[in-house]
Amino acid sequence: MMRIGDCAIVLTTGDLTAAAVDAIVNAANHSLLGGGGVDGAIHRKGGPAILAACRRIRAEEWPDGLPTGRAVITTAGNLPARHVIHTVGPVYSRDPDVPRLLAACHENSLALARAHDLRTVAFPAISTGVYGYPLAEAAPIALGATAAHLARHPGTLSEVRFVLFDAPAYAAFAAALAALPL
Ligand code: ADP
Repeated sequence: MMRIGDCAIVLTTGDLTAAAVDAIVNAANHSLLGGGGVDGAIHRKGGPAILAACRRIRAEEWPDGLPTGRAVITTAGNLPARHVIHTVGPVYSRDPDVPRLLAACHENSLALARAHDLRTVAFPAISTGVYGYPLAEAAPIALGATAAHLARHPGTLSEVRFVLFDAPAYAAFAAALAALPL
């Protein structure tokens, strides 16, 4: 756990879909129409209301799909969370833009949460599954972008939680949190 002003950054292991927070963040893809991994679990457990909201966003705002690094918000359907913030992580590569895009996922998701007056947000380890981002590289970017955002924008958020699916993911985030420059 680390405090940035009034906000706690918390690491846990487990299933993101069980998190009873104001918003869970989905590691979505451009289509917003569902996929594997955490995205599949969110749509499966949250029910059709999430997909219906995503289809509306595609029709009204992003006809060609949500660009990498951007974020949108929908209902969480039947999940214990109130909302789902959908963001598209970068596919891992040596492209120098990739770390900036992973940071942007976190910044834009947190900005959207603040814009909706949400206090508690839970993230998965975005891009570290099918998108191939090594945990040891993703964790400091995710946590660094989050800490910097909270330092710049104090007030609204009280908890940002990272729900890590397994022990290696938790270990990578714990090491990165301990090493975070203050
Ligand atoms: P991406 O396409 O962004 O890589 P994935 O869903 O494939 O997204 O994986 C992102 C991370 O989410 C991985 O570390 C994976 O282990 C984890 N994950 C998968 N299912 C869940 C879940 N139900 N709760 C939390 N994390 C999950």
